[in-house]
Amino acid sequence: MNGALFLLTVNFLIAQLFCAFFLVISRRSRIPSAGRWFAAAFAVASLSAICEVVIRYADFDRLASFGAFSAVLSAILMIRVGIGRLYGVPSNLWAMAGILGISLPLNLMIYDLPRGTFSHSLGYQLPFAIAELICAGAVYRSGRRETADRILIGLLLLTAANFASKIYFSVEFSGGATAQAYLASTYALVSQSLSAVLVVSTGLTLLAVIVVEIMDDARANSEIDPLSGLFNRRGFNGHVSRILSRPVPAYPHCIILCDLDHFKAVNDTYGHTAGDQVIVSLGRMLKEHAPPEAICARFGGEEFAIFLPSTGETTGYLFAQGLRNSFSALAFPGLPDTVRLTASFGVCALAAGEDSIADAINGADAALYDAKNSGRNRVNRMRRATATGPEEWQAQA
Ligand code: GH3
Ligand code: MG
Ligand code: MG
Repeated sequence: MNGALFLLTVNFLIAQLFCAFFLVISRRSRIPSAGRWFAAAFAVASLSAICEVVIRYADFDRLASFGAFSAVLSAILMIRVGIGRLYGVPSNLWAMAGILGISLPLNLMIYDLPRGTFSHSLGYQLPFAIAELICAGAVYRSGRRETADRILIGLLLLTAANFASKIYFSVEFSGGATAQAYLASTYALVSQSLSAVLVVSTGLTLLAVIVVEIMDDARANSEIDPLSGLFNRRGFNGHVSRILSRPVPAYPHCIILCDLDHFKAVNDTYGHTAGDQVIVSLGRMLKEHAPPEAICARFGGEEFAIFLPSTGETTGYLFAQGLRNSFSALAFPGLPDTVRLTASFGVCALAAGEDSIADAINGADAALYDAKNSGRNRVNRMRRATATGPEEWQAQA
């Protein structure tokens, strides 16, 4: 077994392995079809290795040569479809059909041209280079620029450049005039090794992009309360600590706690499912009304929290009053149209320089408790020894 044949065998096995990896990992992905397209691409690409072995040992090398070319080109276009799914950049099927429609007949036509000529290598390599450029363009157009995305764009461009450079190098260093002679040449060995490295790197990067997506989804899901769509306590704590680690804000941060009034009676009268709808509606209302930088969470049961960064207690209090008003006017799906519910609120600002929200939450909780005891449907605030204006606040911090 010479070097080129050994490499073809390795390429075949690696392509099969990638196919299996993508199939396994796609089952966990939010977009399983992307991984399946990549798996199909590697399965098809592995056929090109078989074709090249056939070229070496059999006589019908025109068909095998066409098979190898078609397999690689189709595989790159399948990668493009997968990238389209993964990155939300749909593929242009007409453009792909155009590339196949022109390149495949062209490949059959150039077979009789002597290898090592410019026309032969141009007809053979250019479609690959164009297809790789299309893949790189799709990732670029998605606008995603995470590390793995940048590496992927770089690798796809490098692969396109590798194919384009072969147009020149295969003329300059061509090993032979026939497909068999080419496969036995040192040039084929070098060229196939380089291609193998690029294919493996691209495959690993695509796997990494899918794995990062799965991990991001898992982390996001572990931070979200599925019923209200708001953060759960873990998500709330994580996002709030990130804000608390920033430099001292112009105004103190503010925390609002909210608890539905007589919610047990809603469940008892209209059923638990109707009660769930109230929680969903309140979650939606908080998302709509809260400023973009606010962190809204469901702490559990029918208790909610809103963290307003650099807002000040008075603004927080007014915001809570707005929420209380809007909620008391809200109608709920699953409940009679005439039914209106209320909620009570407790507001407390963080003290200057405080790097934990624990005390502010206790303060807001005490204010909420007072609101419940004073008849519900109220906003109460817990005044702590905090500053009143931004200058005083910053001076204390
Ligand atoms: P208060 O005005 O004093 O807050 O009275 P309340 O009835 O709202 O308070 P209580 O703590 O006695 O009851 C809370 C109820 O919230 C009890 C529980 O059945 C209900 N609850 C907690 N989680 C859920 C949920 O996910 N869905 C529904 N439908 N109900 C829930
Ligand atoms: Mg309640
Ligand atoms: Mg409660």
